[in-house]
Amino acid sequence: HNKTHDKRVLVIGLGRFGSSLALELVTHGWEVLGMDSNPRLVQAYADSLTHTVVADSTDDEALRQVGAQEFSRAVVAIGTHLEESILTTSLLVDMGVPNIWAKAISRRHGRILQQIGAHHVVLPEHDMGERVAHLVSGRMLDYVEIEEDFALGKTRAPREILGRKLGESGIRATHGITVVCIKRHGEQFTYATAETVPQKGDIIIVAGKTDRVERFAELT
Ligand code: ADP
Repeated sequence: HNKTHDKRVLVIGLGRFGSSLALELVTHGWEVLGMDSNPRLVQAYADSLTHTVVADSTDDEALRQVGAQEFSRAVVAIGTHLEESILTTSLLVDMGVPNIWAKAISRRHGRILQQIGAHHVVLPEHDMGERVAHLVSGRMLDYVEIEEDFALGKTRAPREILGRKLGESGIRATHGITVVCIKRHGEQFTYATAETVPQKGDIIIVAGKTDRVERFAELT
Protein backbone atom coordinates (compact mmCIF):
# COMPACT_ATOMS: atom_id res chain seq x y z
CA HIS A 1 0.00 0.00 0.00
CA ASN A 2 0.96 3.63 -0.32
CA LYS A 3 2.84 4.53 2.83
CA THR A 4 2.74 8.28 2.32
CA HIS A 5 -1.04 8.42 2.37
CA ASP A 6 -1.91 5.96 5.04
CA LYS A 7 -3.38 7.42 8.18
CA ARG A 8 -2.21 4.75 10.57
CA VAL A 9 -0.05 5.19 13.63
CA LEU A 10 1.42 2.67 16.02
CA VAL A 11 1.51 4.04 19.57
CA ILE A 12 3.60 2.06 22.03
CA GLY A 13 3.00 2.85 25.69
CA LEU A 14 -0.45 4.01 26.79
CA GLY A 15 0.61 6.01 29.83
CA ARG A 16 -0.42 9.65 30.25
CA PHE A 17 1.52 10.88 27.23
CA GLY A 18 0.85 7.97 24.86
CA SER A 19 -2.85 7.73 25.62
CA SER A 20 -3.42 11.48 25.16
CA LEU A 21 -1.55 11.39 21.88
CA ALA A 22 -3.42 8.29 20.67
CA LEU A 23 -6.85 9.70 21.56
CA GLU A 24 -6.06 13.00 19.84
CA LEU A 25 -5.05 11.16 16.66
CA VAL A 26 -8.29 9.16 16.69
CA THR A 27 -10.25 12.40 17.09
CA HIS A 28 -8.51 13.67 13.98
CA GLY A 29 -9.50 10.65 11.92
CA TRP A 30 -6.36 8.56 12.27
CA GLU A 31 -6.33 4.82 12.72
CA VAL A 32 -4.36 4.03 15.86
CA LEU A 33 -2.96 0.75 17.08
CA GLY A 34 -2.24 1.21 20.78
CA MET A 35 0.17 -1.21 22.42
CA ASP A 36 1.03 -1.65 26.06
CA SER A 37 2.31 -4.52 28.15
CA ASN A 38 -0.15 -3.60 30.89
CA PRO A 39 -3.49 -5.37 30.16
CA ARG A 40 -5.37 -3.03 32.47
CA LEU A 41 -4.34 0.01 30.42
CA VAL A 42 -5.05 -1.71 27.12
CA GLN A 43 -8.50 -2.62 28.42
CA ALA A 44 -9.11 0.99 29.39
CA TYR A 45 -8.49 2.22 25.84
CA ALA A 46 -9.94 -0.74 23.93
CA ASP A 47 -13.16 1.10 23.09
CA SER A 48 -11.66 4.47 22.17
CA LEU A 49 -8.71 3.45 20.00
CA THR A 50 -9.05 1.76 16.60
CA HIS A 51 -7.06 -1.30 17.68
CA THR A 52 -5.34 -2.21 20.92
CA VAL A 53 -2.99 -5.01 21.81
CA VAL A 54 -1.31 -6.30 24.95
CA ALA A 55 2.29 -6.94 23.96
CA ASP A 56 5.87 -6.38 25.05
CA SER A 57 7.42 -4.02 22.54
CA THR A 58 10.93 -5.19 23.34
CA ASP A 59 9.98 -8.58 21.90
CA ASP A 60 10.88 -8.54 18.22
CA GLU A 61 8.51 -11.39 17.44
CA ALA A 62 5.59 -9.68 19.18
CA LEU A 63 6.22 -6.48 17.23
CA ARG A 64 6.27 -8.37 13.93
CA GLN A 65 3.09 -10.19 14.81
CA VAL A 66 1.17 -6.96 15.08
CA GLY A 67 2.70 -5.78 11.82
CA ALA A 68 4.83 -2.98 13.25
CA GLN A 69 7.04 -3.08 10.16
CA GLU A 70 4.04 -2.10 8.01
CA PHE A 71 3.53 1.22 9.74
CA SER A 72 4.98 4.38 8.28
CA ARG A 73 4.58 6.14 11.64
CA ALA A 74 5.26 4.98 15.15
CA VAL A 75 5.45 6.69 18.52
CA VAL A 76 7.45 5.23 21.39
CA ALA A 77 5.70 6.73 24.39
CA ILE A 78 7.64 4.86 27.03
CA GLY A 79 9.36 7.27 29.35
CA THR A 80 10.33 6.00 32.73
CA HIS A 81 11.60 2.60 31.59
CA LEU A 82 14.78 3.64 29.80
CA GLU A 83 15.82 0.20 28.70
CA GLU A 84 12.38 -0.57 27.22
CA SER A 85 12.28 2.78 25.48
CA ILE A 86 15.71 2.34 23.91
CA LEU A 87 15.21 -1.28 22.91
CA THR A 88 11.78 -0.63 21.39
CA THR A 89 13.05 2.33 19.39
CA SER A 90 16.00 0.35 18.13
CA LEU A 91 13.77 -2.53 17.00
CA LEU A 92 11.52 -0.13 15.07
CA VAL A 93 14.59 1.43 13.44
CA ASP A 94 15.83 -2.03 12.45
CA MET A 95 12.43 -2.81 10.91
CA GLY A 96 12.75 0.27 8.76
CA VAL A 97 9.78 2.23 10.14
CA PRO A 98 10.42 5.55 8.38
CA ASN A 99 8.97 7.99 10.91
CA ILE A 100 9.64 7.28 14.55
CA TRP A 101 8.80 9.72 17.31
CA ALA A 102 10.22 8.86 20.69
CA LYS A 103 9.51 10.42 24.05
CA ALA A 104 12.48 11.10 26.30
CA ILE A 105 12.47 12.03 29.96
CA SER A 106 15.84 13.77 29.93
CA ARG A 107 18.23 15.31 27.44
CA ARG A 108 20.61 12.37 27.86
CA HIS A 109 17.81 9.92 27.16
CA GLY A 110 16.88 12.02 24.14
CA ARG A 111 20.43 11.98 22.83
CA ILE A 112 20.55 8.19 22.99
CA LEU A 113 17.23 7.86 21.17
CA GLN A 114 18.48 10.17 18.46
CA GLN A 115 21.72 8.23 18.14
CA ILE A 116 20.00 4.91 17.68
CA GLY A 117 17.92 6.39 14.88
CA ALA A 118 14.69 7.94 16.22
CA HIS A 119 13.65 10.57 13.68
CA HIS A 120 11.98 12.87 16.19
CA VAL A 121 12.63 13.08 19.90
CA VAL A 122 10.22 14.89 22.18
CA LEU A 123 10.87 15.94 25.76
CA PRO A 124 7.38 16.84 26.97
CA GLU A 125 8.14 17.55 30.62
CA HIS A 126 11.36 19.36 29.94
CA ASP A 127 9.80 21.49 27.18
CA MET A 128 6.67 22.25 29.17
CA GLY A 129 8.79 23.19 32.18
CA GLU A 130 10.74 25.70 30.11
CA ARG A 131 7.58 27.05 28.58
CA VAL A 132 5.85 27.58 31.89
CA ALA A 133 8.99 29.31 33.19
CA HIS A 134 8.48 31.97 30.54
CA LEU A 135 4.87 32.43 31.63
CA VAL A 136 5.72 32.56 35.34
CA SER A 137 8.51 35.08 34.91
CA GLY A 138 6.79 37.39 32.45
CA ARG A 139 3.46 38.82 31.43
CA MET A 140 2.63 36.61 28.47
CA LEU A 141 -0.66 34.73 28.51
CA ASP A 142 0.79 31.91 26.44
CA TYR A 143 4.06 31.18 24.73
CA VAL A 144 5.56 28.74 22.24
CA GLU A 145 9.19 28.67 21.19
CA ILE A 146 9.10 27.60 17.54
CA GLU A 147 12.83 26.99 17.43
CA GLU A 148 15.94 28.20 19.21
CA ASP A 149 15.41 31.93 19.79
CA PHE A 150 12.19 32.39 17.82
CA ALA A 151 8.86 32.47 19.61
CA LEU A 152 5.16 33.20 19.41
CA GLY A 153 3.64 34.96 22.41
CA LYS A 154 0.04 35.66 23.38
CA THR A 155 -0.45 38.94 25.20
CA ARG A 156 -2.86 41.82 25.74
CA ALA A 157 -2.40 44.62 23.24
CA PRO A 158 -0.18 47.20 25.01
CA ARG A 159 -1.41 50.78 25.22
CA GLU A 160 1.32 51.90 22.84
CA ILE A 161 -0.28 50.18 19.84
CA LEU A 162 -3.95 50.98 20.54
CA GLY A 163 -6.08 53.11 18.24
CA ARG A 164 -3.95 53.18 15.12
CA LYS A 165 -3.24 50.92 12.19
CA LEU A 166 -0.58 48.28 12.80
CA GLY A 167 1.01 49.30 9.50
CA GLU A 168 1.57 52.78 10.87
CA SER A 169 2.68 51.94 14.39
CA GLY A 170 6.21 50.93 13.40
CA ILE A 171 6.38 48.19 16.02
CA ARG A 172 8.34 45.86 13.78
CA ALA A 173 11.13 48.43 13.65
CA THR A 174 10.92 49.59 17.27
CA HIS A 175 10.20 46.29 19.02
CA GLY A 176 11.35 43.69 16.51
CA ILE A 177 8.07 41.80 16.61
CA THR A 178 5.20 41.24 14.20
CA VAL A 179 1.56 41.06 15.26
CA VAL A 180 0.21 38.00 13.48
CA CYS A 181 -3.24 37.50 15.00
CA ILE A 182 -5.75 39.47 17.00
CA LYS A 183 -8.83 38.66 19.04
CA ARG A 184 -11.53 41.13 20.02
CA HIS A 185 -13.38 40.58 23.26
CA GLY A 186 -15.93 37.80 22.74
CA GLU A 187 -14.74 37.08 19.21
CA GLN A 188 -12.41 34.53 17.67
CA PHE A 189 -8.80 34.99 16.65
CA THR A 190 -8.31 36.31 13.14
CA TYR A 191 -5.16 37.26 11.24
CA ALA A 192 -3.86 40.80 11.64
CA THR A 193 -3.09 43.04 8.65
CA ALA A 194 -1.45 46.43 8.23
CA GLU A 195 -4.97 47.90 8.43
CA THR A 196 -5.85 46.29 11.76
CA VAL A 197 -6.45 48.81 14.55
CA PRO A 198 -5.98 47.24 18.00
CA GLN A 199 -8.43 48.32 20.70
CA LYS A 200 -8.16 48.23 24.47
CA GLY A 201 -8.76 44.66 25.70
CA ASP A 202 -7.69 42.96 22.48
CA ILE A 203 -5.53 39.87 22.74
CA ILE A 204 -2.75 39.54 20.19
CA ILE A 205 -0.28 36.89 19.02
CA VAL A 206 3.15 38.27 18.27
CA ALA A 207 6.10 36.58 16.56
CA GLY A 208 9.77 37.42 16.85
CA LYS A 209 13.00 36.66 18.63
CA THR A 210 12.28 35.22 22.06
CA ASP A 211 13.65 38.12 24.10
CA ARG A 212 11.86 40.69 21.91
CA VAL A 213 8.55 38.86 22.30
CA GLU A 214 9.03 38.75 26.08
CA ARG A 215 10.00 42.40 26.30
CA PHE A 216 7.02 43.41 24.18
CA ALA A 217 4.66 41.63 26.57
CA GLU A 218 6.20 43.62 29.44
CA LEU A 219 4.67 46.78 27.92
CA THR A 220 1.19 45.61 28.92
P1 ADP B 1 3.68 8.51 31.10
O1 ADP B 1 4.54 9.38 31.97
O2 ADP B 1 3.29 9.16 29.82
O3 ADP B 1 2.51 7.92 31.84
P2 ADP B 1 5.22 6.10 31.40
O4 ADP B 1 6.63 5.95 31.00
O5 ADP B 1 4.92 6.11 32.86
O6 ADP B 1 4.65 7.34 30.63
O7 ADP B 1 4.34 4.93 30.78
C1 ADP B 1 4.74 4.25 29.69
C2 ADP B 1 3.80 3.10 29.36
O8 ADP B 1 4.56 2.20 28.56
C3 ADP B 1 3.30 2.32 30.55
O9 ADP B 1 1.90 2.17 30.45
C4 ADP B 1 3.98 0.96 30.41
O10 ADP B 1 3.13 -0.12 30.76
C5 ADP B 1 4.29 0.87 28.94
N1 ADP B 1 5.45 0.06 28.67
C6 ADP B 1 6.64 0.09 29.29
N2 ADP B 1 7.47 -0.84 28.78
C7 ADP B 1 6.77 -1.47 27.79
C8 ADP B 1 7.06 -2.55 26.89
N3 ADP B 1 8.25 -3.14 26.88
N4 ADP B 1 6.10 -2.93 26.01
C9 ADP B 1 4.90 -2.31 26.01
N5 ADP B 1 4.56 -1.31 26.82
C10 ADP B 1 5.48 -0.90 27.72
